[in-house]
Amino acid sequence: MITKKPNINRSNKLYSIGQKIIPSGGQTYSKGVTQFTEGVAPKYLESGKGAYAIDVDGNKYIDYVLACQPLILGYSDPDVNKAITNQLKKGSTFSLHNKLEIDVAKMLISTVPSAEMVRFGKNGADATTIAIRLARAYTKRNEIIFCGYHGWHDWFIATTDLNDGIPKFNNDLIHKFNYNDLHSLEKIFKKRKNKIAAIMMEPLAVAEPKCYGPKNCKKISCKKFCKNNFLHQVKKISKKNGAVLIFDEVVTGFRFSLGGAQELTGVTPDLTALAKAMSNGVPISAIVGKKNIMKLLDKTFFSFTYGGDCIGLSAAKATIKKIKEKKVINHIYKMGTSLKNGINKLSKKHGLEEFIKCVGYPCRSIMSINGNKKFNDLEIKTFIQQELFKRGVLWAAYHTISWSHKEREINKTLKAFSDIFKIFEERFIKKNYKIKDSLEGKTVKPVFRQVADFNSYITKKN
Ligand code: PMP
Repeated sequence: MITKKPNINRSNKLYSIGQKIIPSGGQTYSKGVTQFTEGVAPKYLESGKGAYAIDVDGNKYIDYVLACQPLILGYSDPDVNKAITNQLKKGSTFSLHNKLEIDVAKMLISTVPSAEMVRFGKNGADATTIAIRLARAYTKRNEIIFCGYHGWHDWFIATTDLNDGIPKFNNDLIHKFNYNDLHSLEKIFKKRKNKIAAIMMEPLAVAEPKCYGPKNCKKISCKKFCKNNFLHQVKKISKKNGAVLIFDEVVTGFRFSLGGAQELTGVTPDLTALAKAMSNGVPISAIVGKKNIMKLLDKTFFSFTYGGDCIGLSAAKATIKKIKEKKVINHIYKMGTSLKNGINKLSKKHGLEEFIKCVGYPCRSIMSINGNKKFNDLEIKTFIQQELFKRGVLWAAYHTISWSHKEREINKTLKAFSDIFKIFEERFIKKNYKIKDSLEGKTVKPVFRQVADFNSYITKKN
């Protein structure tokens, strides 16, 4: 396999300008220089086609980040492009409503189990935030229980270490519980009786929902998400306490299953936030849910200039249609399973199981990296990422699979992992060299949201 440190001269030149006029150098934390081995990784991408991204220096990579996960069909999908360009000829946004709003709302209602009514936003956080406001309006309560990452707004970011500028009272209104830990949820309800407006959570992320059934409850039934599993129990507890159950399906919607994790698990929430894969990277999100709660939007304010903009809606219409017609979900599970199993086989072959394991659902698996006294987690991640860049793979420790990731791309990626794990074994395990001495760029840093998103969902079982 060809191994070459990419030439990133143009990326670096641009960044020297960009960082002077754009605070933090860019718009999205997880696309920033702290996340991609600085010195080795490109900083700017210019174009993409299918599973490949091309940087401003002309280097080409198989991309597993896919713009923070929305590109379920891959970059620049011809069908989505056609829908968008046709719409552009008619106009992008209008002075009155547009029929596309009805078309896409109908699609969501027939696809997502909890969807009885629909409103559109632009970012995932628009949808999660209006869900919180609706739950507060519906219950006449203020406090929220959450698990995972849910966007940039005050109500949520107050809970993180990046909470500068957010009034402290927000912290009193929000309580964290742990995935697969009913006790942590019940404890909050007990302490905050009749105060909780909503539970906000990603229904699935990495771990499978745990079974809380009798000891003889067969694993297979849990795999089919039996009534005793964590998610069913969360719903029960939510109902008993009069709280609104909100599923954040910004990532899982149209990826884990066409109708989202709720379709896969059979647990229907009261409200659902949808975004990302719904429109293959064109900004649009949706809040969907039960009529009696959604109806409150008549006087719960959720209104902005680009609500219902027709570019996002036409992209969503084309994307959902294609996911259905091409059986895209089957494909991403199949390719994702090959990748996940392949990585784990290679990790075992090179004696790295203790440190490196691919976990989670094959449609979006993640690399669980467990350092020890000898090996630091972030150095392991940086080394793997650096070597993947040299082999033409853009990676941030998770694997977003798209319709465009075919066997060819998966095999090329596995070949790259095979080379890298072999080096890891020979250099760091057998010869006891320090990983640090093999790093050609800066060690990557954790983003708080990755901690929230992924690690809190990983159980020891994984
Ligand atoms: N919920 C989840 C689970 C997410 O992963 C994200 C963003 N990655 C959001 C909400 C917020 O979406 P956005 O960044 O589009 O506002």
